[in-house]
Amino acid sequence: MPTPVSEPGGVFPPPRATPLRVSLTGVLESAYDGRMTLARIPDAPPSAGWDLHCHTVFSDGRQTPDDMVREAYECGLHGVAIADHDTTAGWADAVKAAERYQLPLIRGTEVTADASGISVHMLAYQYDPCDARIVDLFASLRAARLARTKRMVELIAKDYPITWDDVLAQIREGDETTVGRPHIADALVAAGAYPDRSAAFAGAVGSRSPYYIPTPSPDAVDVVRAVRQAGGVSVIAHAGDPSRNRRLLSDADIETLIDAGLDGLEVWHRGNPPQQRERLLALARRHNLLVTGGSDWHGKGGKPNKLGENLTDDDTVACIIERGAIPPILPR
Ligand code: AMP
Ligand code: FE
Ligand code: FE
Ligand code: ZN
Repeated sequence: MPTPVSEPGGVFPPPRATPLRVSLTGVLESAYDGRMTLARIPDAPPSAGWDLHCHTVFSDGRQTPDDMVREAYECGLHGVAIADHDTTAGWADAVKAAERYQLPLIRGTEVTADASGISVHMLAYQYDPCDARIVDLFASLRAARLARTKRMVELIAKDYPITWDDVLAQIREGDETTVGRPHIADALVAAGAYPDRSAAFAGAVGSRSPYYIPTPSPDAVDVVRAVRQAGGVSVIAHAGDPSRNRRLLSDADIETLIDAGLDGLEVWHRGNPPQQRERLLALARRHNLLVTGGSDWHGKGGKPNKLGENLTDDDTVACIIERGAIPPILPR
């Protein structure tokens, strides 16, 4: 990493030595309709590019948006996307950090959804955060999460030494943090019941535990439509991860979402095994979908996932930016 330079207000890294590889001019000046520009679909995970799937303290990540952008800068990523669960609360801090470290940023959210009983996570990028339907959708999702998380704590508290206040003590940004099982896990770790978050997920907070309660979630079709209406780009997160559900989304289930306006599939994610990557790539080729990658970074002590371990190529990011309703944050 280049030597940081001191400026009023803090220590800033010097501008990147390498030129920005996301050139937007070509796509912005193109005569195509917004949805027609396509990215080439790679056969193998990109070795350079953007991490489009990162969580911070505004949901279940354990580090700040500033940490996220700084680490992305330090490990040489071309850019990063914030994608906290069911909120835009971390966006402002992420923008400040992107300006501070002069690292490109796109803004997103991982939206909790349901498709015929299968829990689906939808990554939504570059949509209008003031869109009324999106604002309502996230508010009701966060309220549902709160009620469900409290209820799970009531059940767990019968057998483990934790209270709701102990869970609140794990929440870094108060009402701005989207709560969930990871915060219960952190309270159990603080109480000495488990050595770390992942152990708690293998036990009392896991989806196979007797204390588990699912979050009532909107239908994935409605989420895709709402994101599209708000001018955003929707991508199914880790669609081939067999550990998240008893059954996976079928090709037909995914095609239903494509008909509703789905833009892409997150293929490059540690949860998708090789055969699933092949299936998802074939679907993407058949339907001209965007193919993305991301780490699902949750910071130190969150998950073992390393920032930048899976990436999205620059051309695909340029398509997302072109389709989206809000500008990317790019270095001056
Ligand atoms: P919830 O959304 O409340 O059902 O909680 C599930 C979330 O826990 C998912 O978004 C996971 O990414 C997150 N999570 C964070 N850390 C871990 C971990 N160590 N093991 C499993 N899931 C985790
Ligand atoms: Fe998460
Ligand atoms: Fe997810
Ligand atoms: Zn995630």
